[in-house]
Amino acid sequence: MINKNKEYDCIIIGGGPAGMMAAIGAVNRGKKVLVIEKNQQLGKKLLLTGDGRCNLSHLEKNNKDFVKNFGTKGDFLLSPFSIFGPRETFDFFEKERLALNIENDGRVFPKSNKSKDVLITLKKMLEGVDILYGKNVKVINVENGIIKSILLHDDSELKSKSYILCAGGKSFPSTGSDGSGFSLAKSVGHTIVNPVPGLVPIKIKQKWVKKLMGITMKDVAITFYANSKKIIRDRGSILFTHFGITGPIILNASNELGKHIAKKITIEVDLFPDKNVDDLKKEIFTLIGENKNKKIKNIFEVYFSEKLLLAILNFCEIDCNKKAREIKKDDILRMCNFVKKVELEFESLESFEISMATNGGVSLNEINSKNMRSKIIKNLYFAGEIVDLIGKTGGYNLQMCWTTGYVAGNSC
Ligand SMILES: Cc1cc2nc3c(=O)[nH]c(=O)nc-3n(C[C@H](O)[C@H](O)[C@H](O)COP(=O)(O)OP(=O)(O)OC[C@H]3O[C@@H](n4cnc5c(N)ncnc54)[C@H](O)[C@@H]3O)c2cc1C
Repeated sequence: MINKNKEYDCIIIGGGPAGMMAAIGAVNRGKKVLVIEKNQQLGKKLLLTGDGRCNLSHLEKNNKDFVKNFGTKGDFLLSPFSIFGPRETFDFFEKERLALNIENDGRVFPKSNKSKDVLITLKKMLEGVDILYGKNVKVINVENGIIKSILLHDDSELKSKSYILCAGGKSFPSTGSDGSGFSLAKSVGHTIVNPVPGLVPIKIKQKWVKKLMGITMKDVAITFYANSKKIIRDRGSILFTHFGITGPIILNASNELGKHIAKKITIEVDLFPDKNVDDLKKEIFTLIGENKNKKIKNIFEVYFSEKLLLAILNFCEIDCNKKAREIKKDDILRMCNFVKKVELEFESLESFEISMATNGGVSLNEINSKNMRSKIIKNLYFAGEIVDLIGKTGGYNLQMCWTTGYVAGNSC
């Protein structure tokens, strides 16, 4: 139980990664801190991160390279990162005896590979912080540009000198982040850049894609066009699902696609990005010439998994049981053209229910990047996903939460 008459220095709304880090920053400065969390537990989403392993940051050469993973808005983070960037975050956790492991691709995890160990470490550091569980902040009372008090859903009123809004975005609402933070920010005059799902699979219009469910295309090049203008090109693996496509390059692309959803988006997948179409044709005809009596499906095993090959042959109307010498030249040419340019049409982004981050949020123009303070309300700060920043997959988003949480908690 907390004492409702206690005068806090800082009330933090939301007990996710950003809120916990903000609380640690503030309590370490001797502040009287209260965290209000609508769930009965802290860090519900944190526990799900990295498939339960918690990819908590990413090793990059320097902060400039790091913030590039947030697209054109990333420069906003240069100032907070100069105060508490990835290096400081690694030191922070390791000082608390949470050993970290940097994988070959730069992703950083706790050595134990357990997100619960990250949560345990943070909770240990919350000693001295009051925590109110199962309470939903529903109103922020402002007078003359200053927050006077907040109201909980049971109408009880709480007061503090400053407030940090860390209520997350709209992604994965089952964890508590249902967009109420955006409503609270808007109610005190902040602009909310239209939130759309980010780091999310995409739905494809063509129905035949459903037949590819479960198939992975490895090391392909993918190009996205918005109203025929090229907007993204990337390379990696794509996994077909029952509604469309996913995989790290698709999740990352979804962040950029979020800006273009009103346009007609088309997609081209090149299954042989290192070969031009003429070289591929030559290579395939040579292969066929050397294996005239083999079944076509056995010849192409070198290129594709069986499931993918059957889907390609089916799509190109080539009988997979025919021998190589029985296949018409035109059919082979059609197949080569197809695998060099599989055309897909974007239907939509998948929903917030399964998106890993929110694309949009409290406008960066209204936040001071030096201290994460609102430029509209003097005693209000922001941290974490509620802010209009979204990074690629790979630990960038949690790092943004640690950084902005730390800076807000050390400024409030
Ligand atoms: C499945 C999944 C896997 C992910 N994996 C990774 C990963 O490996 N690496 C990575 O970098 N990122 C990952 N992310 C993204 C990462 O989890 C988020 O960036 C991060 O959790 C955002 O932290 P936050 O504190 O801003 O918000 P949240 O974690 O959403 O926390 C906000 C908290 O505020 C509470 N709250 C909301 N409104 C109110 C209110 N009105 N009153 C009181 N409390 C309120 C919510 O209950 C919630 O607990 C993943 C996301 C998902 C969904």
